[in-house]
Amino acid sequence: MDTEFLINGTFTGGMGTAEAILNPRTGETILDLPEASAEQVEAAVAAANEAFDGWSRTTPAERSAALLRIADRIEADAEAFGALEALNCGKPINAAIGDEVPAIVDTYRYFAGAVRNMHGPLAGEYMEGFTSMIRRDPVGVIASVAPWNYPAMMMAWKLAPALAGGNTVVFKPSEQTPLTALKLARILAEELPKGVVNVITGRGETVGNALVTHPGIDMISLTGDVATGKKMLQAASKSVKRTHLELGGKAPVIVFDDADIAEVVEGIRAFGYYNAGQDCTAACRIYASEKTYENLVADLTSAVSGIAFAQDDDTTNEIGPLISARQRDRVASFVERAREQKHIEVTTGGRTHGDNGFYYTPTVIAGARQEDEIVQREVFGPVVSVTPFKEVDQAVQWANDSDYGLASSVWTKDIGRAMSTAARLRYGCTWVNTHFMLVNEMPHGGLKSSGYGKDMSMYALEDYTAVRHVMVRH
Ligand code: NAD
Repeated sequence: MDTEFLINGTFTGGMGTAEAILNPRTGETILDLPEASAEQVEAAVAAANEAFDGWSRTTPAERSAALLRIADRIEADAEAFGALEALNCGKPINAAIGDEVPAIVDTYRYFAGAVRNMHGPLAGEYMEGFTSMIRRDPVGVIASVAPWNYPAMMMAWKLAPALAGGNTVVFKPSEQTPLTALKLARILAEELPKGVVNVITGRGETVGNALVTHPGIDMISLTGDVATGKKMLQAASKSVKRTHLELGGKAPVIVFDDADIAEVVEGIRAFGYYNAGQDCTAACRIYASEKTYENLVADLTSAVSGIAFAQDDDTTNEIGPLISARQRDRVASFVERAREQKHIEVTTGGRTHGDNGFYYTPTVIAGARQEDEIVQREVFGPVVSVTPFKEVDQAVQWANDSDYGLASSVWTKDIGRAMSTAARLRYGCTWVNTHFMLVNEMPHGGLKSSGYGKDMSMYALEDYTAVRHVMVRH
């Protein structure tokens, strides 16, 4: 197992306090990993600054070739990457290898192509005697800080557009899930010039804070909690760094009278509980028309009670445990507080599972009201609430009545109603008759407290490059 950091092209062990890396399926320690010392953070930022001049002047074709090589090598080692991600996160092995690694490989390949196809406004004479042109140049050194729910995928979403755009990076995975980042570092060291990507690990308040407040950083890219996003903005304000923030979500799912209830149930069962609900786009807040409500609750309850988890044969598991005891207890406390409300019924799940590991049973909460905590706050666990609504305006108003604005979905056979509802939703994405589907060609990112800046797509490449005007006098 790879345990060393990549700093300036060489591998070195962490010199800071050790952090226990746990297996969420058993609760056992996989290994104790020392975090980066203050000197190692310094060295990583210095290396990225030193590498910037050379890397930023490579051609798109050269950067594209490097990204394609990285993609090929992850693909060739897909089983080992997936198995390591499954070990560290508790993901079912089939999901890690079969769903996530191919998506990760595709991200590197997409940006390898995208950077060779960037377009902009035409150069021209906008003032007589002068020719103006627009350049898109790298921003500089990026501090990339990632969460624990999709460690290797978030690394791909951050590294690929940053590198394609000609930036250099200091990458810090979550202190809970550093293993695939350290494995990928071995490939990055061989495929990129030294210092272009540096990988260090450690806790947010120590290593993360030292990194994002460093004057040698030009841009902070965070995927994480809203509270952490606010800290990034404070850190950025000291030297006016750029920020790219992908924060939480609380996705509303509006189910109209004419929706195909079997499809809705199948969709929520899959997209509300994937990754044990630890997903910022999880279909977790259902608004069902009064006509569909009873059937939906009954069918969803029965479908969700059949979700396979905690089986000894991991190939049969559909979802895994939560990432930590703390996260499991947090989820449990949300459900306990919801259960205390008389109008709420927990129709399935609603308890922890087993003595080992951080499992929580897939849960459906019926009868939740708009003002309830379970409807308003991000749970980040396998818990879905269902609320009946009377008319379209009420559903749209409730859906938009949220601090978050990342993802949403609308379920109806009426294309006009789907389009008019989608137009009124204040979310970075609205799916119609599906949920959760992401493609590298399309942007992912939020509004409101879900943050700003896009992952995936040409928009991410724009976020990781700076627009510059060059004017020539004739
Ligand atoms: P978190 O905010 O606790 O941690 C995210 C990262 O920030 C970690 O690497 C952590 O070490 C670091 N960090 C924490 N405090 C820091 C500080 N003061 N300075 C610098 N770095 C610091 O989030 P998490 O618990 O790892 O992940 C779950 C959260 O991420 C959820 O809220 C979820 O919605 C969000 N998320 C959002 C998206 C999205 O695309 N919008 C995707 C995945 C996860």
